[in-house]
Amino acid sequence: FENLLTFHHQMEAVSHIAAGVAHELRNPLSVIKGFLQLAQLTNDHQKYYDTIMSELNRMNGILEDFLSVSRRKLDRRWQSPVQIMDSLTEIIKAECHLHDVEFQLELSDTDKQVYVNESMVKQVLLNLLRNSVEAYGESNANRMLKIETMVDEANYVIQVKDNGKGMPQSVLKQLGKPFFTTKERGTGIGIPLCKKIIEDHGGNFRVDSTYSVGTTVIISLPLGNH
Ligand code: ADP
Ligand code: MG
Repeated sequence: FENLLTFHHQMEAVSHIAAGVAHELRNPLSVIKGFLQLAQLTNDHQKYYDTIMSELNRMNGILEDFLSVSRRKLDRRWQSPVQIMDSLTEIIKAECHLHDVEFQLELSDTDKQVYVNESMVKQVLLNLLRNSVEAYGESNANRMLKIETMVDEANYVIQVKDNGKGMPQSVLKQLGKPFFTTKERGTGIGIPLCKKIIEDHGGNFRVDSTYSVGTTVIISLPLGNH
C-alpha cells in the first residue's frame, strides 16, 4: 500500500512536469513556426534569424533545466571559472545585443580554480542571464548587465548584476520555491535549480534585489588549494 502511495505521488509529479514541459515548449515552437512562415513569405530570412535562434535557445534552456532536475550524478573537474565564463561570452553578448543591454565583464583572479561540473555552472549562468534580460520593461533605458568576479576568503565569487525592474518583497519571499514565477511564459524552475546546483557544489547562492532598482545574484564556490 505504501509503495502504491509513493508510486501515485511519483506519477503525479511526472505528469505535473510533463504538462509543464509541454506547455513551455509549445510557446517558442509556435513563435518559430510563425517566423519561418514569415521568412518564406517575405524572402527576408536574415531579419527573422535572430528571433528564431533566440527561441531555439529558449527551448534548449527549458529542456536542459527540466532534465537536470532529475540528474543525480555530479561529474566534477578542477577548472578555471574564468575559462567557463569565456566560453559563454559570445552567447551572452548576442543575447544582450538582442535585448538592447550593455554587457560589462570584469574578471579577476584568472589563475584560480574551482571543482565543478562545467555544464551545470554554465546552466546557472545562462539561467541568470535569461532572468536579467527578461527583467527589463519596455521603458527601461540604459539597460546594463554586469558580470564581476572576485575572491573572498576561500571562495570564488561571481556576481551577476542587472538594473532591471528588481523584485518587490512579495516576490522575494517566494523566490526559490519550485514553479514560482511571475511571468506569463515562465517555468519557475530557474532560480531553485541554480540554488540547488550551487549548493550541490558546496557553494552558496544569494539574491539581492531592490524593487525598480535592480538585482544582483551572488554565487560563491569553494576554491581549491590543490
Ligand atoms: P522564471 O524565470 O521561469 O519565471 P525563475 O525561477 O528563473 O523562473 O525566476 C522566478 C521569478 O523570480 C521570476 O518569475 C521573476 O519574478 C523573479 N526574478 C528572477 N530573476 C530576476 C531578476 N534578475 N530581476 C527581476 N526578477 C527576477
Ligand atoms: Mg528564469
